Amino acid sequence: MAPKAVLLYVPADKAPTIHGQPLFALDRKGTTINQPLVISRAQHPISRALISENALKVLYRLKDAGYASLLVGGCVRDLMLGREPKDFDVVTDARPEQIRKLFHNARVIGRRFRLVHVRFGREIIEVATFRAIPRDVSEETMRPEQETGEEAEESGDETPIEAPDHNIFGSQEEDAVRRDFTVNALYYDVRDFSVIDYVSGVEDLKRGVLRVIGDPESRFREDPVRMLRAVRFAAKLGFKLEDSTAAPIRDLASLLTTVPPARMFEEVLKLFHGGYALETYELLRHYGLFQHLFPLTEKSLEREEQGFPVTLVPRALANTDARVNEDKPVTPAFLFAALLWESVRQQTGELLARGMNRYDASFRAADAVLREQLRHVTIPKRFSVPMREIWSMQDRFERRAGQQAFRLLENKCFRAAYDFLLLRAEIGEADAALAEWWTRFQAVGDDERRAMTAQMVPAPGTGQRKRRRRRRRPSSAQAPRHE
Ligand code: ATP
Ligand code: MG
Repeated sequence: MAPKAVLLYVPADKAPTIHGQPLFALDRKGTTINQPLVISRAQHPISRALISENALKVLYRLKDAGYASLLVGGCVRDLMLGREPKDFDVVTDARPEQIRKLFHNARVIGRRFRLVHVRFGREIIEVATFRAIPRDVSEETMRPEQETGEEAEESGDETPIEAPDHNIFGSQEEDAVRRDFTVNALYYDVRDFSVIDYVSGVEDLKRGVLRVIGDPESRFREDPVRMLRAVRFAAKLGFKLEDSTAAPIRDLASLLTTVPPARMFEEVLKLFHGGYALETYELLRHYGLFQHLFPLTEKSLEREEQGFPVTLVPRALANTDARVNEDKPVTPAFLFAALLWESVRQQTGELLARGMNRYDASFRAADAVLREQLRHVTIPKRFSVPMREIWSMQDRFERRAGQQAFRLLENKCFRAAYDFLLLRAEIGEADAALAEWWTRFQAVGDDERRAMTAQMVPAPGTGQRKRRRRRRRPSSAQAPRHE
């Protein structure tokens, strides 16, 4: 039978506590009471043919040097489910310096919890040392469990060790129970090809259940991002949140406001660019989490247009999912443009009603919405600039006389802005004929394009007259100030 998930007895003086709660059980010798379930090769579906060659190279090199050598986390979970893993994470009992010495293509990253990245061309295999449970919360770094290392500061190989290793590195059991969900804490041991399970993760995989390791409330308080991860995995795997895991989420959702916006940005991309954005979005709203990521969006969704709920966001997310699943590129600029558009539109409308001209109203509304959003989720400039361009091009799509349409076509954001126009047309917000005009304009040759624009009457105050006077006016980015 599978071992019971994490017992909660620890000698009082040694207890690794999290908000005053012991997290897992140690016996008097300091080893866990739980015996892991070991599933032999014959009884699980993970074959080496399914593991990336580079990950295998790393695993064997560690094993041959006499170290523990295992796959862990999402890759084991996905392989057990017959899915293709996104990436392969390796854990070992070797220390970062020892790991680095085994590979010429390796570097140590991260400051407090150091990891090793072993690079093979475009593939990076991340190798971590078994990690201890933090002895108290203050020992945790700001991004406590950030495993990807993507943003971890490159420390260079010479960086001095800041904390004593015994506080940071632990046993395999500890490494298991400090992970977030039972299904994310399975190991594949390359020494005997077994799967090792300390927390009944295999049982939960079979039942399609996502369960927090330890006490859900404490673990969500310890790192509120785990609530987002819960929803993300539930959507991706089609799993149900186990009752006690789901129970505290609504009450704790507001803790997301304590997460640094830069980390939230990383999480938002994982939530919406993983191929399951629509389900994820619905679950986020169901659990009251979405309002803490996109408060303005949540508010704008409550409004209805002519009796119909606003549908641009779900459509955009469905589009994004389709693109991800066809391996087409997606950009955060488009994602954020869609998520925030309704708020921009509503605020623009309010400013217009107060007598502001269209250009200024759109500009101000975009500014205000972006500023408010940045308090919750960072949007790096390289995405917020094109996002605003996508928005402002929506107005410019209507002005097609003279050279205007040609100039728009050359804009770097044309493709994304055009896709956005199609989306708006689909939900009946933009004129379908306008969208068709642009579809045709791209498809036809130069002569035909000129004929198409010749039929356009310049809007008052823009277009032909102005263009003739200022022939060399440089860029379409400077939209005319008045309509
Ligand atoms: P994905 O398929 O999205 O990569 P993953 O499970 O591999 O899913 P990662 O973010 O790559 O997720 O993290 C790798 C592993 O690290 C997780 O499976 C989990 O064991 C552990 N982990 C990551 N983030 C946390 C966290 N916030 N708290 C506890 N454990 C975490
Ligand atoms: Mg992963």
